[in-house]
Parts: sequence; structure tokens; C-alpha cells
Amino acid sequence: MSSIRARLTAAYTAAFIGTLVIFSIALLAVRREILFRELDARVQAEADQVVRAIGLARNTGTDPIVAQEDPLAGPRVSFRMRSFLSLLDGYVLVQDSTGYDIYASPSVQQLSVSDRDAFSSAARQSASGGATERVQLSMDRVVLATRIVPLSENARYKAYAALSMNDIQFTPRELLGTMLVITPFLLAISMTFAWAIAGRAFRPIDRIIDQVEAITDGRSLHRRLAIGAAGDELARLSSTLNAFIERLETSFGALRRFTADASHELKTPLAVMRADIERSLSPTSTASEQAIAIEEALEQVTRMADLVDSLLTLARADEGRFDLYREPVELGPLMREVVETARLLGEDADLTIDAPVLDDAEVLADLTRLRQLYLNLVTNAIKYTPRGGRVEITLVRGEAAATFAVKDTGIGIAAADLPYIFERFWRADRVRSRASERGGFGLGLAICQWIAQAHGGALSVQSRLGRGSTFTVVIPLAGAPGSGMTGEYESIVHSVGDDDAVSPMLTAD
Ligand code: ADP
Repeated sequence: MSSIRARLTAAYTAAFIGTLVIFSIALLAVRREILFRELDARVQAEADQVVRAIGLARNTGTDPIVAQEDPLAGPRVSFRMRSFLSLLDGYVLVQDSTGYDIYASPSVQQLSVSDRDAFSSAARQSASGGATERVQLSMDRVVLATRIVPLSENARYKAYAALSMNDIQFTPRELLGTMLVITPFLLAISMTFAWAIAGRAFRPIDRIIDQVEAITDGRSLHRRLAIGAAGDELARLSSTLNAFIERLETSFGALRRFTADASHELKTPLAVMRADIERSLSPTSTASEQAIAIEEALEQVTRMADLVDSLLTLARADEGRFDLYREPVELGPLMREVVETARLLGEDADLTIDAPVLDDAEVLADLTRLRQLYLNLVTNAIKYTPRGGRVEITLVRGEAAATFAVKDTGIGIAAADLPYIFERFWRADRVRSRASERGGFGLGLAICQWIAQAHGGALSVQSRLGRGSTFTVVIPLAGAPGSGMTGEYESIVHSVGDDDAVSPMLTAD
């Protein structure tokens, strides 16, 4: 069955029919029980009538029993008593105190010899009183009630009344027949109802499906589903889908921006290269002009290679296929190397480079990537600090993590820009950045953040426009929780307890 609606209809109808069958069986059982109880009551009443008939016969003053002329025939009830008893229905048997049958109703007399014996012996064994008994005869099954009629101290009759169970008007066939006739109609009605109810229940879902189809055609991701006012499951589904579509829209947008940015970044060096090559091929250009053009083209090739390399790194990181070779790394020697490079670069830029605290620490890291991370931050600090400024590099060994910080007195970052600085291709001043000699692509910090996170650490920034910035990297120490995994930074932040230095939030002073 293809649709949920059809399945629900079938399930509902099956449940309905099942209930109907159970109900009918219960009805039959109850009806049967009631009929048996009624029969029991009738048999008891019949037995009481027998006792009453004997009493009436006795009250008329005649001897209820007369001896037969044939001495072998045994005593019989009197004519008067017989006429009273013959008015009663069913099987009636009266025995004297010796157990001899002194009256048998016509129906008892009509029984076969074996049935008569079975009836008499069952009667003889039965207990007098309230309870009835069932006696199986060859052609019939009867319900028997017994009474004891005291005549004198020694003499007493035993009176039995029985009614055939065939008298019960219990006809399940009638009910079954009726059921068979009405079931197809009931089935049709219940299926129609079930189909209609399921359709009604699914109508809002159909609407949601239509809306989602319309939204996900690719061009309408800005649209959202209407959320019902009921606050039910469907409203929840709609709002969940809306959140999902919003995330899709955001990532599609980011993807589009990324492609546009990447193409744009490649366009400029390609244009410059084209011009350089054309210039070098020009018959009018001199040998030195050709050399300059080729050198410039080479510069652009290097720049493009850098860009492609960065893009590849980020693409691999996104895919989770990053080439990290983690081993125990002593940060002391690495720090000395980083500070030395900073001093060389700082000298050119006329900056003071300080390294007041350089603790030694061991982390589990990919040395090349870690060096790339630290150097990137240091070169950024130098790049964005005007001449005469100061850059301070520190490495503090905490309880569970090593905190590397680069503090500069540079141009700083505006508070409004802080949330975006780790985004790909983001630069505070695109034009100046691209035009300037050292202008990057705005991918460096995105890569730095990925490297920090891939080491189970985090990169954070504090900055104030015009006053300088502090970039902080926290990497868990070798053996500390999270040192072997990515994305465990949160727990380390709290265990270090140095909120300012390791806060993963972006803050502007
Ligand atoms: P880029 O290659 O352009 O430096 P990054 O991703 O490293 O790319 O940095 C992105 C942007 O963040 C930079 O263009 C710059 O605007 C800003 N930025 C990074 N570091 C600093 C810093 N130390 N001081 C001021 N601005 C910075």
C-alpha cells in the first residue's frame, strides 16, 4: 500500500472489524449465559410447582398414593395427584422414600430404557436444594432440579423436574447471518470514514510538502513555511523545517560567496599575469622590461599558488580529510623559532618585538601546522602594526593547556567586524589589503582557527580599533583531556580558569 493514508484506512478498518467480531462473540456468550440462567430459574420454578401439586393433592384429603391391583406393579400416585402433575411441562418424576418411581410424566415415559435409567440414576444421585444439574440423554440434554417432600417422620417423596436444554432459543446462526449481511455495509462505511478522517489529518502535511517542494526548488530558500497557530506537532515540524531551511540558506549563501570570492581573488592575478605576458611578448619591449614583466608574472603565480594552497587546506578541513600528523612537540624550540622570525620581520617594519614569558610545554600536535598557526598570527600582528609599534609574544603553560598570545599595538579591529574576522576571504579593508604589498586573501585566520580546533584547542581575539589586538591560541597539553581529539575545547577552557586569556568569545575592549 503506497500512502500512509491508505495504510491508516486499512488499519482502522481492520481494528473496527476486529472489535465488531470480539463484540459479537461477547454478545453471544452473555446471551447464552442469560438463557441458561433463565432455564435454571424455570426448572427451579417447575420443581416448586411439583411440590405444590403434591401438597394440593394431599390437602384434598385423598391418599396421594394408591396400591395397584397387580401386586408386582408397585404403588402409583392417585388420580387426583396425577391430574395435577400432568399439568406441568417437561420431565417430572416423583419417587417414594424407597426410590421407587411413583409418577413419571409422559415425556419421562417416552424416554428409551437406557435414557430412563440414566435419568433415574442421575435423579437419585442428585442433591436436593438450590443447584441444578445437567443430565446427558441420548437425544437430549436436560437441566434437573430436585426437591424432597416430607410426608411423615419416615416417609418422604423425592420430586424431580427437568427441562430440555433444546428449549433454549439460542440461535447464534441468526446473529452470524445478520453479521454476514451487515458486515459489507459496515466495512464500506468504516472505510469511507477512515479514508475521510485520514485525509483530513494529512491535509496539513500535504500542504507542508507542497510548500517545502516550492521552497527547495533552489531559488526560494528565503521563503519560510507558515506555522499553524495550534502549537501541535505540525507546528513543531514546520518550525523545525524552517530552521533547517534557514541553515540551508546560510550555507548556500556562504558557498556562493565563497565561490564568488575565490573567483574574484583569482581574477586579479590572472589579469595582471596576462598583461605581464603580453608586455613581455611585445616586439617593442626591451630586454629589461621583459625581465620585469616576467618577474611580476612570477609573483602573481606565487600568489595564486598560495591562494590555491589555502583553499585546498580549507576544503580538506571541511571534508575532514586534513593531513594532521600529531606527535609530541616541545613548544620551547618552536617558540624560539617563531620569536626569531618575528624579530627579523619586525626589524624591517621598525617594530619592537618582546617575548616576556616563554614557558616550555609539550603538546600533541602537527609541528608544521602549529608553526603555520603561530607564524600566521605573528605576521598578521606585524602586518597590521604601524612603524614604531610593539608586538608581544607569550607562551604560558597552564594546568591543562598551553596558551600562546600575540599582542600588538596595531590598527586593531572594529567591534562590528570582530564576528567576521574568522570568515573566509574577510578583510577589514579589502581594497587596501589587495593593493598593499603584503595584502593577504583573508583566509589566514580561517585556517588558523581550523588548525587550533583540529588540535582540540581554540583561537580567540580581543581587539580595540586603533589600539591593538591580542590573538590567543589555547592548545591542550599532551596527556590532558582533549589533547587527542578535536572539538573538546570547552572543557579545557573551564579547567584552565583563565577566562580572559582563553575565552573563545570574540571581544572588543
Ligand atoms: P589576511 O591574509 O588578509 O591577513 P587573515 O585571515 O589573516 O587574512 O586576516 C583577516 C583580516 O583580519 C585581515 O585582513 C585584517 O583586516 C584583520 N586582522 C588580522 N589580524 C589582525 C591584527 N593583528 N590587527 C588588525 N587586524 C587584523
